[in-house]
Amino acid sequence: MVVQVYYTFLEEVEIVENVSFPKCLKCKVGDLLPLSDFGSQGAAIYYKAWVCSNPDCGFNLKIRNGDVYLNEPIFSGTGPNPRSQR
Ligand SMILES: [Zn+2]
Repeated sequence: MVVQVYYTFLEEVEIVENVSFPKCLKCKVGDLLPLSDFGSQGAAIYYKAWVCSNPDCGFNLKIRNGDVYLNEPIFSGTGPNPRSQR
């Protein structure tokens, strides 16, 4: 009996450690990482956006005001600044 309880405990630990993010279905290489944000009232908004971990892919999915947005451009800070183009 003691052994059985021990194994049950091990399985529970394994489940916790094996929390994995869904694979990106676009590039099938990266994982989709959940990103959280803070609302205007300072309240945390969990999993507001999901972004592919593969920088060459950039697939992202986010919700704003109840609408879902797919593949919005990511502002990395290193690309050309749209505001500087004339
Ligand atoms: Zn991807």
